[in-house]
Amino acid sequence: MAEIARHSYDVVVIGAGGAGLRAAIEARQQGRKTAVISKSLFGKAHTVMAEGGAAAALANVNARDSWQVHFRDTMRGGKFLNNPRMAELHAREAPERILELEYWGALFDRTKDGRISQRNFGGHEYPRLAHVGDRTGLELIRTLQQRVVQLQQIDAAELGDPEAMIKVYAETTVTELVKDDGRIAGAFGYVRDTGDFVLFEAPAVILATGGIGKSFKVTSNSWEYTGDGHALALRAGATLLNMEFVQFHPTGMVWPPSVKGILVTESVRGDGGVLRNSEGKRFMFDYVPDVFRSQYAESEEEADGWYTDPENHRRPPELLPRDEVARAINTEVKEGRGSPHGGVFLDVSSRMPAEEIMRRLPSMQHQFKELADVDITAEPMEVGPTCHYVMGGVEVDPDSGAVGGGVAGLFAAGEVSGGMHGSNRLGGNSLSDLLVFGRRCGMGAAAYLDELGGDRPVVSEEALAGATRAAEAPLRRETGESPYDLHQEIQQTMNDLVGIIRRGPEIEQAIEALDKLKERVAGVRAEGGRAYNPGWHLAQDLRNMLVVSEAVARSALEREESRGGHTRDDFPSMSARWRRVNLVTRLADGGVTVRHQELDVLRPDLLALFDREELAKYFTEAELPEAEGAEE
Ligand code: FAD
Repeated sequence: MAEIARHSYDVVVIGAGGAGLRAAIEARQQGRKTAVISKSLFGKAHTVMAEGGAAAALANVNARDSWQVHFRDTMRGGKFLNNPRMAELHAREAPERILELEYWGALFDRTKDGRISQRNFGGHEYPRLAHVGDRTGLELIRTLQQRVVQLQQIDAAELGDPEAMIKVYAETTVTELVKDDGRIAGAFGYVRDTGDFVLFEAPAVILATGGIGKSFKVTSNSWEYTGDGHALALRAGATLLNMEFVQFHPTGMVWPPSVKGILVTESVRGDGGVLRNSEGKRFMFDYVPDVFRSQYAESEEEADGWYTDPENHRRPPELLPRDEVARAINTEVKEGRGSPHGGVFLDVSSRMPAEEIMRRLPSMQHQFKELADVDITAEPMEVGPTCHYVMGGVEVDPDSGAVGGGVAGLFAAGEVSGGMHGSNRLGGNSLSDLLVFGRRCGMGAAAYLDELGGDRPVVSEEALAGATRAAEAPLRRETGESPYDLHQEIQQTMNDLVGIIRRGPEIEQAIEALDKLKERVAGVRAEGGRAYNPGWHLAQDLRNMLVVSEAVARSALEREESRGGHTRDDFPSMSARWRRVNLVTRLADGGVTVRHQELDVLRPDLLALFDREELAKYFTEAELPEAEGAEE
């Protein structure tokens, strides 16, 4: 057997984005010896790419904001399919987490009177996103990394070794979770540059691996987002929730082809940018669905008035939740009113002076100038939908992040987990989600270790040999297909057949294609050796993308309605009958199975935050009397 480096920890966190770092900080603060592993360079995670901001009801810009309003917006955005406990914890705790970041050194943009500034974003009733220009994620990661270093300095002073209690293993990919009799015993993987194998023995493992975007052809996600955590959880016996809900962000770049999919932040619209079709029409006014009609402006005049006088105007329809805007753009393009390269126009140049654009949206100006030779201070951008975020994810206990399905010692936080955002995430709610549930996961893992006492699970040599064999297999084959070709096929299948608009027969076609791909992926071949070999790395990722794609496709076929990030052309309406149905996927006999599970009911005090009239748009008749009772 190949040589394997071994490390022993109390808690191993897989992922060094916002969720992973916040979880690791918490675990270390709880006195646990903690490792943080990241597939890419330390600091390079999706969190660092986040532009717009982190949503928290600090009420700095509008005093009417509160956790209750944030909760209400989140539930509306998720079309009432959110796990209510998660949405409540998130709304209640986000302000504290943002202030904690500031305490740890984050420099947010300020209001005139010196408080943390907050900006508008789609679906948020009040300006709520704490931000740093359009580079918020960078500051968030910088601050969390700085906190890790600070803790390491404390450990250096007290224990003589900065890495005694918290250590980062960058460019290390986990390929397998190791179990001992149903309990997590560790994580196995390889070091990216050398290809050396490594085992982390630990009774508690926290998944914080982010999203699944690389299963789709057009995506804002970068190379690491191959659904590893989702797949690791499934293979360990855990369950995924509502994988049909994939967010297509309405505004990705569409031209040139090499940059197709790269994100154009929602802040452009939040700060006043408008969407127009090839006829120059501000078309979003035609796409306000009934459920949102009372909250959105009906004329350009009213919409424009909102930016300066939100008390007396309704919101511009460009700031509808993302699923609505993405579908509208898709329709405009399909009906022949698109821009030259298959998108629509997003214009900020006619809405504010160039210097203000440079101040508010410096990264966007740079991105378009460098990548598309477009000066956004003088001309509109061309934009179209791009696969951005997965609402579905690992089923967790809201309070502790403990993973369901009877896998003791496994936890999950951040984008890899499911439930919090229902069928559609509001912009800005991810960064706050990472902080709230990252911390809770760190606490959950520490509490689990307390329960465990000295009875720690053990990694068997047999399990280790199995993980090594699986990792080496693509290199040992004499024949087999290229991982790059197989990856393209998965991406094309998902993009074309399980993309933004879905139809039953096409999803069935996708499932069939993915089934056939299983055998081919099982026989994938990577040339060369283990030392820096991207083809071999991709071969490891393929099986993750495949199983995750199957979970998305099978759930998408099962849900016969349209809701949030799941649009069925053959079932175009939202159905009250489906509102309380969670689709739970698990692995059985090498395939993904889907079952129905009833969503938790909303507590009466939370129900009372909504008008009965609004609830009637989502709830069944049978559910409504409960709502009526709650309002009394
Ligand atoms: P990530 O930050 O994605 O980190 C995942 C980590 O897991 C990485 O370190 C990765 O290397 C590691 N990893 C993955 N697989 C493995 C493996 N097998 N082994 C070891 N390590 C692994 N949200 C907002 O709220 N506001 C915004 O303004 C915003 N803007 C965005 C802009 C862009 C361009 C993108 C792509 C997303 C944006 N989002 C935004 C969404 C948000 O950034 C992500 O949902 C969030 O950062 C996910 O954080 P995370 O901690 O769950 O995972």
